Order: sequence, then structure tokens, then C-alpha cells
Amino acid sequence: MPPDTELWNRVEATAREVFGTFGFGEIRPPIFEPTELFARSIGADTDVVGKEMYTFEDRDNSSISLRPEATASVCRAYIEHGMHAWPQPVKLYYLGPMFRRERPQKGRYRQFYQIGAEVLETVQPGQGGPKDIPKDAAVDAEVIEMVMAFFARLGLEGVQLEINSIGHAAENCRRGYVQKLKAALEQVKDKLGPDSQRRIETNPLRVLDSKLESEQAIIAGLPKISEHLCDDCAKQYAEVKRQLDLRGVKYTENWRLVRGLDYYMRTTFEITARGLGSQNAVCGGGRYDGLVELLGGLPTKGIGFAIGEDRLILSLQEAGKGGAEAGRDVFVAWMGEKAQTSAIAAAQRLRAAGFRVELPPVEQKFGKALGQADKLGARYALILGEDEIATGQWTVKTLADGAQAKMSESEFLEKLKRL
Ligand code: AMP
Repeated sequence: MPPDTELWNRVEATAREVFGTFGFGEIRPPIFEPTELFARSIGADTDVVGKEMYTFEDRDNSSISLRPEATASVCRAYIEHGMHAWPQPVKLYYLGPMFRRERPQKGRYRQFYQIGAEVLETVQPGQGGPKDIPKDAAVDAEVIEMVMAFFARLGLEGVQLEINSIGHAAENCRRGYVQKLKAALEQVKDKLGPDSQRRIETNPLRVLDSKLESEQAIIAGLPKISEHLCDDCAKQYAEVKRQLDLRGVKYTENWRLVRGLDYYMRTTFEITARGLGSQNAVCGGGRYDGLVELLGGLPTKGIGFAIGEDRLILSLQEAGKGGAEAGRDVFVAWMGEKAQTSAIAAAQRLRAAGFRVELPPVEQKFGKALGQADKLGARYALILGEDEIATGQWTVKTLADGAQAKMSESEFLEKLKRL
């Protein structure tokens, strides 16, 4: 509601503006999709798909789901619309509501809003492989730089970027690491809570996400992925850090940052901000080479992020950067039947010039009109009575200090434009 929506609109306009300067165009994916799309991309064993998705049977017995995130839809659109034939890479951003059946609390809702972006690039014949490492790393760093530039433009406070590499799905890399992790977890299984015990089987990496106090010391002693990355993934990670340094982007490394969705590989990152309590992550993202291919497209690289807009807004409001009341530039206090014609014409011209104008539908007593102008937070009251119409000189009252002056319409417009 107003006045909050002022801030929502400012945040969204800033996103469009900043992302535009990085060459991104907007995509508007649908609100629901075949359930299969999310199950295949995000992963059937993830909490998002397994527990939180709003899934319905359609009239033709097919299964549809409200989107819990938008990356899968963007990849589907990339394939369906032949974007591999567009100039590469394809850079897209989106904003809109997402749905997850989570336990609602401050900063966590069942309908929440994300602002996200994706960079997709289909691998051309003869390209790809280790020689792409510097390029991929620079793309990763630029995407992160863009989020940080957006947050800086909004004046978001206490912004902290954490990065990690979760390698790629191969024996000599993440798969090998997950086996070691699983073995280590089996050893300490009795000391873990029921969620983590379950995850040893379903998704061992997610144990590293645990916030449970009693598990922290145990997790600190588990094998770390950075010691099990293959040469290429290790090189890529080092290059991402160098590229962030080149861009002046500050980060800390967090080896426990694995992210909850199956499709991530190599670079993962998360950004937190001030004033949000336990739900302090405002952005999560990572690289997902292979997702487009998994969904039936050509081998394609991808990197993206999603910002939690609700949380971003909460943090800005906590820091006193909320939206101001919409207010009015001009309140037209008209008196007398003849004055109404002039008042309507004045309001039309002021609005056409872009000013916020309140025109009372019926005549008001002078005192009441000024009282209402004040309540609405108007800057000026334009007083139009018989005198003003006869002389063509308007009476303009500045509400902040009560000063009153006579001026022509064009002089008043000039005065407003100087605001
Ligand atoms: P994810 O898609 O899970 O990586 O989430 C990306 C960002 O979306 C998070 O960092 C949060 O800021 C936000 N987010 C995720 N789930 C919710 C939710 N249920 N309510 C509000 N924001 C959320």
C-alpha cells in the first residue's frame, strides 16, 4: 500500500536502470509452469520442490505449480524461443512474485517478490572447456558487481558478500567430495539433529547450511570442498576472486555456502544486509552450466542471482530509507462557480506538466481547503477566486511557511520546475 509502494517502485525502477546499464533486457516469465520443469531443474529432493511448492492438478490431469523461482522458466524460454541464435551472451532480468509454502515469519512469506538476472551463453562448436575459465570468471564477477552496484545505488546498509565454489559434478571434484562428506557425516550421525540426519541420505551438502547451534562445532570439523576441487574448478574460483578484486568488490569466503538448489556448480554467492534478524540473506546466486541442456537445449553456460525484494525493502525501511508519503505539489483551492472552470483548466495544465495536483470536486470554504491541503502534504495552495480570474494573477500560498504571493500561470510553472 502507499506509501510503501513508493519505495517498491523506486527499488524496481533502480533495478531496471542499473541492470540496463549492464546491457540486460527484461523477461516476463509466467506465474505457473508444468510441475515437471521445477522438479527436473531445481531437484526433486530439494526442500523447495519436495516440501514448499504449490502444486495443483489441472483439468486435464496434468500437474502445474506456482513458480517457486524463475531461473527454470528463463531457461525454458531460452530454449523455446531459440535464444541460442541471439547475440551471445543473452542477458535477462525479471521481477515478480514467487511462491513457497514456508513457515511465515518476518522476511519470509509464502508469496514473496524476487528481482533476478541471468546470463546465458550457448557453447559454440570448438569452444568451451578449460580455455573458457577466464571468460566465465569475468562474467561471474561482473554479475556480482552488478548486484553490488544496485545495492549501493539504493543505499542499502551493512551489505556483505560471501562467495564459494562448489565445484562440478565429477568424481575428481564435487561427487568425490560429497562421498567423503557423507562418510564423515555417518561417523557423527548420532550427534546431529533429525533434519541433518535425513540429509545425509538425501542431500549431504545441505547439512553445511544448518543453523542449529548444537551442530556448529561438528560441521566446523567436516572436510571442506575447497580441498577437493578439481584443477579447473580451483582455477576458475581463483580467477573469480581476482576478477572481483579488479572491480573493487569486497567479499569473504564461506566454504559452507552450498545453496539449496541442485543446478548450481562452481561459483555460488550470497549477500546479507542489516536489520533483518535471522532472515538476513537478500540475494543468492550462482553458476549453473548444464541446466539448459538438462531441460532439452544445447550445451549452455549460465550464471544468475535472485534478490529477495521484500527483505531488501525491509532493510531499507529499517535504515530510515523508506518511501515518503506521495504528497501533492499543488492543491487547487477554488471558490465560486466561475472559478471551477479555471481550476479545471489549471489542474489539466499542471498535470500535463507532470505535477501532482489535487482538485477538490466541490467548492470548499477557504479555511477547510487549506486544512485539507496541509493534511495531504501539499507544497502549494493555488487560490482561485473571482479576483484571480479577473486579473489573471494567481494567488500562491507556500504551505511550509504560509508566505503568499501573486503570480501569472507561467511564473508559477517556473517556480514549480525549480523544485
Ligand atoms: P533462493 O531462490 O532460495 O536462492 O532465494 C533468493 C533470495 O530470495 C533469498 O536470499 C531471499 O532474499 C529471498 N527469499 C527466498 N525465499 C523467500 C521467502 N519465502 N520469503 C521472502 N524472501 C525469500
